[in-house]
Amino acid sequence: MNVADSEIIQGILKAKKYSSIDSMDKADIIFVNTCAIREHAEEKVHSRLGVFSRIKHNNPDVIIGVLGCMAQHLKDDILDTKPYVDIILGPDSYRKLPELLERKMEDKDNIVDTQLSRYEVYDNFFPSRKEGINAWVSIMRGCDKFCTFCIVPFTRGRERSRSINSIVNEVKKAVDEGFIEITLLGQNVNSYKYKTFSFDYLLKEIADISGVERLRYTSPHPEDMTDEVLHVMAHYDNICNAVHFPLQAGSNRILNRMNRTYTRDHFIEKSNRIREILPNCGLSTDVIVGFPGETNSEFEKTLDVMNKVKFDSAFTFKYSPRSGTKAHEYSDQLSEIDKQARLEKVIELQKKHTIIRNKDMIGNIERVLVEKNSKRSTNQWAGRTDSNKWVIFDKENENIKDFVDILITDAKGISLHGHLVKKKEAA
Ligand code: SAH
Ligand code: SF4
Repeated sequence: MNVADSEIIQGILKAKKYSSIDSMDKADIIFVNTCAIREHAEEKVHSRLGVFSRIKHNNPDVIIGVLGCMAQHLKDDILDTKPYVDIILGPDSYRKLPELLERKMEDKDNIVDTQLSRYEVYDNFFPSRKEGINAWVSIMRGCDKFCTFCIVPFTRGRERSRSINSIVNEVKKAVDEGFIEITLLGQNVNSYKYKTFSFDYLLKEIADISGVERLRYTSPHPEDMTDEVLHVMAHYDNICNAVHFPLQAGSNRILNRMNRTYTRDHFIEKSNRIREILPNCGLSTDVIVGFPGETNSEFEKTLDVMNKVKFDSAFTFKYSPRSGTKAHEYSDQLSEIDKQARLEKVIELQKKHTIIRNKDMIGNIERVLVEKNSKRSTNQWAGRTDSNKWVIFDKENENIKDFVDILITDAKGISLHGHLVKKKEAA
């Protein structure tokens, strides 16, 4: 999401003839686009700001800006403790950036704009993307779900969707620029609603655009996952057979306390439904351990759902208290030691499930998009299946962005290994 937002910011600035350079030491203006989802994300920004303060010390004319969710969340703290920060802008204020920069150049006062908007979707700006395979396309902003652990509804404001037309235009432009994979982005993509159009309709519209070889989206909310969406996915070859399906916790009491609006059974049923309509669908998830008040046996229920569903992969997090959220106020916070021990257990279990799911693919011929050199060897490519699994294989004479058929021969760690069956036409 932040990569996509940074591309919008660059698009806004480029339109006003600003250009980006690689070296911070030579820049006139330095921005950091920030995330507030967990404390760890904020810690990284604090250490980055330390570097900026040294640059400002050597060059007092440089303008330093903190943008995004952390600016929204911690503006007072930044104003109080980081006098070298000139501009603080929340996620709905990027449109004003050129105007504010001009103001800043004339006037030495700090500029703070963290006004959230009910309408801002940056519709008429084209993001400035680096060359590549995948283009992130934001389809909606904000979130109205108010999970009790989550800062997003406070930092990104109310949920709003972009028009179908502007999304289609952006995707067409991305295809013209050479992107062949499109990932639709939003906090809850499947609660997309523009006039009478919902997410399944949007998916069809995008999948029909010629040149969209692969279409992905993230993240859907389990509550809003419909059969219609799954049927559209099944119908279109270019919509990838992968769903990110965030579980968060496996105990009904904890899910309720998180305000997740589904039960464990409901989640398991929907996961089964996904695999029924989309056989071999790659199913990934997010898990939070150590939510306030989570007992050991409630934590075991998370492991139990993981055992029942057997996700292909998981992002696993220790609960991180976020000031301003409801769960931050709960008095029964867990110790860091307990959270760490639980995290290790979910990671261990997920590793097993990833291997089981990946081993199931041995013997399959998978269509793989050649994406980059493998980390281990420049004689090998790394590419993904449409179910979102990395495959490593020896190079022959293919190029990045080719689709190739790979016979899967092994599964190690989180990757699959295989060899080329035949080369398909370059995309
Ligand atoms: N809208 C998406 C999630 C976006 S945030 C959804 O509802 O699924 C990405 C993930 O960060 C969440 O799924 C959750 O697992 C994790 N997360 C969010 N707030 C957190 C917190 N306070 N502590 C730990 N993990 C958190
Ligand atoms: Fe946060 Fe919940 Fe909204 Fe996801 S659905 S962004 S976890 S409040």
